[in-house]
Amino acid sequence: MANKHKSKQLLAPPPSSHRPTPYRGPSRDEILALRQEYLNPGIFHYYDDPLCIVEGHMQYVWDEQGRQYLDAAGGIATISVGHCHPHVTHAVQEQVGRLAHTTTIYLHPTIVQYARKIAERMPVGSDLRQTYFGNSGSEANEYAILMARLYTGNDTILALENGYTGGTGCTMRLTAIQDWKFPADGNLEVKYGRPGYCYRCPRGLKYPGCDLECARDLENIIQAEAAGRVAGLIAEPIQGVGGVIVPPKEYFQAAYDIVRAAGGLCIADEVQTGWGRTGERFWGFENFDVVPDIVTMAKGIANGTPLSAVTTRPEIAATLTRRLHFNTFGGNPVSVAAGLATLEVIEREGLQQRARQMGAYLRSKLLELQDKHALIGEVRGLGLLQAVELVSDRRTKEPAAAETKQVVERAKELGLLLGKSGSLRNVIRLAPPMCISRDDIDFLSACLDRCLTEVRPVA
Ligand code: PMP
Repeated sequence: MANKHKSKQLLAPPPSSHRPTPYRGPSRDEILALRQEYLNPGIFHYYDDPLCIVEGHMQYVWDEQGRQYLDAAGGIATISVGHCHPHVTHAVQEQVGRLAHTTTIYLHPTIVQYARKIAERMPVGSDLRQTYFGNSGSEANEYAILMARLYTGNDTILALENGYTGGTGCTMRLTAIQDWKFPADGNLEVKYGRPGYCYRCPRGLKYPGCDLECARDLENIIQAEAAGRVAGLIAEPIQGVGGVIVPPKEYFQAAYDIVRAAGGLCIADEVQTGWGRTGERFWGFENFDVVPDIVTMAKGIANGTPLSAVTTRPEIAATLTRRLHFNTFGGNPVSVAAGLATLEVIEREGLQQRARQMGAYLRSKLLELQDKHALIGEVRGLGLLQAVELVSDRRTKEPAAAETKQVVERAKELGLLLGKSGSLRNVIRLAPPMCISRDDIDFLSACLDRCLTEVRPVA
């Protein structure tokens, strides 16, 4: 009994060899007060008792008191190779000291070397070769939509319910998570198809007997509402913000065939799923044996430095030459140096294989927890993009949103940072830096176990 109590007390992230620099800035309360005074109140914080993070190293971050946390959210899939990975840090420091900015009106070596590397990573024979760089995922998706509209001459975009596309005008229209974004106006016509969210199939069907009705339904939507006007489909191979929704293997084959037959292009939003995170394959779409016409990337692409990219075939890329178009920071030397260095780390350190191995280990631990805790309705994900969906009743699948919040809050107290997601706010998303170790995963699962045990039922 005494031992049991002792091990309870000892729950803490594995020790890091990194020693954080003592923090000497304003206190957490002062920061909070300044934030309330000077930041737009629309910028929300995550925890009831907001957390202040001042330093990071690999899979760990530290608060202003020097307390260490395991970052299992990875800055929401943005820290791909580890916080302040020395190789990426060095590349950025070197570049920022040499030349921080020109614009793309001049030649620079890194942008072309990096663009070539991206092209080399695309499926053989796809001719997905030419890249336009931006600063955020939203921007990359804007470019993708723009090119699809220009290329096809059509204005209707198909997006998926429960999907997340971004925070700019056009991408907000495409983001179909209720009360998540502002309804932006504009003449973009959007139709929403159904994602392959089998756990909550609205028609109560079961895969494979369902014959992928959700994907095939796109055909009815097009016929009824968009015939002759389809510019393309934009979809995340795995919906991240929507709760790590992994559709059935053939979902995208069916969807892409329908969209292409209607004259549209297929856009894969790889903002969360790219760069080896899904383990088996480098790109998320490759897990579904499809080849898109346009691929968008951001977040983990430069391990925390703002950078995004949209890669497509030359004939589609050429549409942007029809007007004089320009992006001040897109492809600047510092961001692309970070992008190139991040890719080098992924290759040198075998992080895709690591995502596969550690992802499998993480999943096995989550499945063990599912056996033990009735709150876990489903465990899903690929590689190091995993999630548990919490339900208060496994039969009715009543979403356990309040319990999810409790777990996330309590985990923070124990030194573990988790992501929350899902349109029903009942999904815990795990997208740690890909350098995460077995010891970290053991801590993570012990911590989740404790949090799930301690959850108070919500009436
Ligand atoms: N697409 C996906 C799949 C995303 O997850 C996000 C960000 N959550 C975006 C696009 C938008 O990226 P950003 O916030 O960099 O504009």
